[in-house]
Amino acid sequence: MVAFLSKDELDAIAEFEESARHAASMQAGLLSSILHHNASCAYLQQHGMDGLSDVGSFKSRVPIVDPEDLHPLIQRIADGDCSGLLTSSPITSMLLSSGTSSGRSRLVPATTELRQITLKRFFLSNAIIKRDLSIFEAGKSLNFIYAGKLLTKKGGLKAGSSSTHHLRSGVHLDRLPQWTSPLGVVLGPNVRQSMYCHLLCGLLQAEEVTVISSFLAYGITEAFRFFEDVWEELCNDIATGTLSCRITDDSVRGATLERLQRDPQLAEKVHSECVKGWSGIIKRLWPNVIYINTIVTGSMEPYVPYLKNYGEDVPIVCGDYGSSECTVGINLSPISPPEKVVFTLVPYAAYFEFLPLNQEGGTTTDLTELEVGKEYELIVTTVAGLYRYRLGDVITVTGYYHALPQFRFARRSNVMLSINTDKTDERELCEVVKRVSKRLKGGNMDLLDFTSHADHSSRPGHYTIFWELKNTACTNDYILIQCCQDLDAFFNDPYQRGRAAGTIGPLELCIVKEQTFQNIMVFVLESGASPTQYKTPRCINSVALLNILRTSVLCVYTS
Ligand code: AMP
Repeated sequence: MVAFLSKDELDAIAEFEESARHAASMQAGLLSSILHHNASCAYLQQHGMDGLSDVGSFKSRVPIVDPEDLHPLIQRIADGDCSGLLTSSPITSMLLSSGTSSGRSRLVPATTELRQITLKRFFLSNAIIKRDLSIFEAGKSLNFIYAGKLLTKKGGLKAGSSSTHHLRSGVHLDRLPQWTSPLGVVLGPNVRQSMYCHLLCGLLQAEEVTVISSFLAYGITEAFRFFEDVWEELCNDIATGTLSCRITDDSVRGATLERLQRDPQLAEKVHSECVKGWSGIIKRLWPNVIYINTIVTGSMEPYVPYLKNYGEDVPIVCGDYGSSECTVGINLSPISPPEKVVFTLVPYAAYFEFLPLNQEGGTTTDLTELEVGKEYELIVTTVAGLYRYRLGDVITVTGYYHALPQFRFARRSNVMLSINTDKTDERELCEVVKRVSKRLKGGNMDLLDFTSHADHSSRPGHYTIFWELKNTACTNDYILIQCCQDLDAFFNDPYQRGRAAGTIGPLELCIVKEQTFQNIMVFVLESGASPTQYKTPRCINSVALLNILRTSVLCVYTS
């Protein structure tokens, strides 16, 4: 084994290898210990588990549930009920999972053990990256990371995204020397101001940066789009050693000023590279970058072309697959390109069941009996008191690593758009938009972001697709009319039948003003979502968000 990994890192990899060989027994053992530990909790009692801890009794007595089914119990915990409703372990905090189409987050109870598993996964993942990319010496990471807010629930528990809890708990403080930004920037209350300072600190330490990262690909894409707007201001700050007046928050300002020193030569270099254009800018400004680290699968796929443009041949390492509820999979081949990323199940993270898609009866399969090529919905039982809980994700099994299933993230299981019998999910929407938006290049237009809405207020109802283009000053009507026709023509067969029968109305393509998607983000973040975990909602139903979209429409095309 490679000598540059520490003993702890080698042990973490060896432990995972061992668990991969004994995955089935490990899963049965984990379930049994969860059930033993929580035998007295109200939920398991209510379902007649009576101290039983075998898989058969568990599956026959405890139902599969949706997050909404558990909401009343979880709300009681948040309100201060400590009577062991779901778990005998003390609940240490409440996690807010990323928003849904309504812009609302799910509440998830967290325990110390859940957090330890997440940290263990981060550690393992870093060890694998270090091993596979032969990283001998850690440089610095330009990490577009934002702490977000912690709210206090009625019962006193703090609620926030898992990244917010981690960052505000101080657990990551020992890693700060590896980040180019000081803590004051990470904890800043305003995402745009922190983003600016992340860029500035990253440029000031350009030679030392070996990784550019964000939790989700949107984070890096958005930061570099912003860089395109503010690079002259950044150059001015570096040339003069003063900080732009756009940074109004005292703590962010103070923390950044401590790093800022006048460096006219660096300013000149940044200026000369930026005027050359944005393709390959990462390697030109951060010459020692080894890789980009961020999630590029699922709803993050649309951002891959942007990362490839900014990074050119810098490898993109796709982050692991997890949720607030539990860790799910790890990327064992960090050097695989985004489109080839598969995850390997982490067998000590939760007890996993797999519900085959399109099958009557709701019988789950365990990890040893999955069919390669088939899609399954993930059902998890966690160390923090969720039992047979629908995570809401669909995976496609690609094979096995020893006894552990490997899979691609397929999509969220929810249907996003539906007027009649048509059911359009996130993956289909993303694929249709990706296919159609290729036409934009012909008119020198570029799609920045998109979302959708099934409008039931008209008769018949119809799909509305909202696009924000990079430069709305020079849109090409002819091409946009064609895009609108194509969007309408490329959705699924039931959609086409509905259109032909007149039960679905003509599709609307709305071009919105620049910055509209930033305004959507700001609104969602102000409602308590985490900036680090923020994902553009691909379907919007909330009245407030629709209002932002509708008041920003520049022109409408109808198929
Ligand atoms: P959150 O609870 O806010 O962390 O969101 C968790 C959800 O994000 C998961 O259930 C997935 O739908 C999505 N997600 C997390 N990691 C990945 C990944 N590597 N690839 C695709 N989707 C992911």
